[in-house]
Amino acid sequence: TIGMLALDGNGDLSGACTTSGAAYKMPGRVGDSPIIGAGLYVDNEVGAATATGMGELMMKTVGCHLVVELMRQGASPEQACKQAVLRIADKLGDYQAFQVGFLALDKQGRYGAYCIQSGFNYAVKDHQQDSLFDAKSLLR
Ligand code: ASP
Repeated sequence: TIGMLALDGNGDLSGACTTSGAAYKMPGRVGDSPIIGAGLYVDNEVGAATATGMGELMMKTVGCHLVVELMRQGASPEQACKQAVLRIADKLGDYQAFQVGFLALDKQGRYGAYCIQSGFNYAVKDHQQDSLFDAKSLLR
């Protein structure tokens, strides 16, 4: 999945995502990316989130909506992503076999990401930088 989140010069948030889907998926599987709240969610008053990884887990937890609601309650983007990953890991029990990653941006322009497995990278472009970051992860 490729997800993009933006905060424009007027302070408005937006987001988009696209996916090639999961490998070996069943015919007709839709995945999380086109499901608002699961693979993408934007609330222009609070923040935006997008996800990658096992889409069924994002759908079961309405994961990107969860990330935005956690930011509404005061979590930073990275804290919100981490809490959503921990919620999924708790539900799964054997989370080591799965990848789930969230990326979030808030109304103030703060951003962060968190995932289960390392290797999830994200790029940030703003007035100060054009940078690539490794998302923090539960597992190395
Ligand atoms: N989230 C996508 C899906 O489950 C897969 C991916 O992130 O590549 O359809």
